[in-house]
Amino acid sequence: MAQAYSELGATVTIVEALDRLVAGEEPFVADELSAAFRERGIDIRLGVTAEAVHRDGASVKVELSDGRSVEAPEILVATGRRPLTGDLGLETVGLEPGETIEVDDTLRVPKLPWLFAVGDVNGRSLLTHMAKYQARVAAQVIAGREARATRDDHGAPRAIFTDPQVAAVGLTLQCARDGGINARAYDVATSDTPGASFHGRNTPGTSRLVVDEDRSVIVGATFYGHGGRGLAASRDDRPRRRDPTGAAAGGRAGLPHTLRGLAASARALERQDAERVVTREVDLQAKGFRGGPMPL
Ligand SMILES: Cc1cc2nc3c(=O)[nH]c(=O)nc-3n(C[C@H](O)[C@H](O)[C@H](O)COP(=O)(O)OP(=O)(O)OC[C@H]3O[C@@H](n4cnc5c(N)ncnc54)[C@H](O)[C@@H]3O)c2cc1C
Repeated sequence: MAQAYSELGATVTIVEALDRLVAGEEPFVADELSAAFRERGIDIRLGVTAEAVHRDGASVKVELSDGRSVEAPEILVATGRRPLTGDLGLETVGLEPGETIEVDDTLRVPKLPWLFAVGDVNGRSLLTHMAKYQARVAAQVIAGREARATRDDHGAPRAIFTDPQVAAVGLTLQCARDGGINARAYDVATSDTPGASFHGRNTPGTSRLVVDEDRSVIVGATFYGHGGRGLAASRDDRPRRRDPTGAAAGGRAGLPHTLRGLAASARALERQDAERVVTREVDLQAKGFRGGPMPL
């Protein structure tokens, strides 16, 4: 939204409590995105919180934790989402109104096996395609089939519609290492990938593959650059084997695929004499991960 308002001509200041933007993604994304924002004149204040807000006539003043302040005609508060479950009558079945509805991997509420909750209300993965994925899993379970939603965690495919775009699937390097994987990052210029090449050589941005060195599988990929979303968000109609997150548990997963981008990145790796990236599928759940490996 900051970039959208900036493009429309507004003077924009971002106040971010953490020490970088898009903190859930690879750190290089924050660096490159911040540079793109600053180039457009967006002021970014990191590591500070809004402490107080006052409106004085046509102006709003936001007092920051570092003692400074920001004045603007309007402020947009975008600090998270909460489930809209206050008026669903949850209290009549012993659940807490206004709270997330906890479900198991069948999307059932554990103490109320006749009740299913899919999408944002269960808090598992606040993304449109994951809500649809969960709906398919729930439908299969209700129909008496074996199905589990096991791919809707933080490794789900995701896109941030900035310019340039951010697209990612699977684990970041830090997440992989935190999970005990012997992970290594392979970085390439996004302009080397087919999606970005539409925008010409030497367009900005970095792409990263995170490889489990022990198993020789890709466990995460992040693309930043023009056309990045296309690398991770085009639909693959060849399900299951080609499903990058293995999310087809409940039928054809409406999930993105990264194959062309990954293939290009893998070719770039080969050019760098990196270790060969193998294509076999391995179940990472043994290591406690819900996100799966991505065959090339
Ligand atoms: C600003 C913004 C940007 C986003 N961008 C992206 C993005 O780029 N990519 C992405 O994947 N996701 C994005 N999301 C998330 C995405 O919108 C949600 O994850 C998705 O809509 C969840 O689907 P859902 O069916 O669970 O809920 P919703 O789409 O919210 O549907 C719930 C429906 O239930 C209705 N409802 C509520 N209470 C009642 C009631 N008592 N009775 C009957 N109906 C009721 C609501 O009116 C609503 O239509 C974005 C969300 C926001 C807010």
